Amino acid sequence: MIQFQYIRASTQKTAIETTAKDATAMFIAGGTNLVDLMKRGITTPQKLVDINNLPLKNIDASTGRIRIGALALNSAVAENKLVLDRQPLLAQALNAGASAQLRNMATVGGNMMQRTRCPYFYDTAMPCNKREPGSGCGALEGFNRMHAIFGFSDKCIAVNPSDMNVALVALDATVHIAGPKGNRTVPFINFHRLPGDLPQKDNNLEKGELITAVEIADNPFNKHVHYLKIRDRASYAFALVSVAAALHLDGNTIKGVRLAMGGVAHKPWRLTEAEKALVGKTVSEGTFRQAAEIAMQGAKGFKYNSFKLKMGPNAIVEALKTAAGIV
Ligand code: SF4
Repeated sequence: MIQFQYIRASTQKTAIETTAKDATAMFIAGGTNLVDLMKRGITTPQKLVDINNLPLKNIDASTGRIRIGALALNSAVAENKLVLDRQPLLAQALNAGASAQLRNMATVGGNMMQRTRCPYFYDTAMPCNKREPGSGCGALEGFNRMHAIFGFSDKCIAVNPSDMNVALVALDATVHIAGPKGNRTVPFINFHRLPGDLPQKDNNLEKGELITAVEIADNPFNKHVHYLKIRDRASYAFALVSVAAALHLDGNTIKGVRLAMGGVAHKPWRLTEAEKALVGKTVSEGTFRQAAEIAMQGAKGFKYNSFKLKMGPNAIVEALKTAAGIV
């Protein structure tokens, strides 16, 4: 592990200023991914700015929305009554992630910032454009079982590993950001990036910018929801494929729907065309199957992950059936 300077920030302003002016500085909160990356020499900050003392842990529900501070722990959000009552899809997704111990350390902002679990990214003996731009992609012709089927490029086929992000993109969350140039908000769907020619960039944060909160506007998706995660173990494993499904039903008629997938792309993957196809339809397995086929249009598998082309639509159908209560 490299040597680094450790600073505990007492104000948001000093945290941002310190990180913005030093190219080697990074924020640290729960550290559940960053410390691993540092131990392996993948990320090498010379200055760590600890933000745990900043007042960013609150979860509150002022007019028409839940605001979750970036330092709220994953476990605290998953157990929060406001979240359970109004946004149960988010609670389900959080509880599907990692392990109880990790959820007690990991923060919402850190969860958004966690890096891919592509094994070639973590093996410094292997080429990886995300870790070392221009070195190549070991996964393209390698063991790519966990990798993307949507939105990849010839530079990188990694996936975003978060469960929480899949629920937040489905729920149309908004990200609040503070930075050296002031505050801004970003729709969650635009926070993470596809790899393109710059796979080293996971998201659209600028240097020195700090996630301060995530907001979810009240919505009718608090009853018929399901987060389905398919993985190799029942706990402490990343998704092969996951689906966040939320339905707003009037009897058997679908008045509204939110759908997103995880484990399939470099960012949480919203299924807007499938959503459009479901609105106004009657709940049935056949309807869900048609939407799943639409959702999978454009998907392409690699040597070891083509099973996702079948697993994906089946997972969508099962998640929608469970959400609708027709299992
Ligand atoms: Fe690196 Fe992306 Fe290729 Fe994995 S898929 S080896 S993260 S460039």
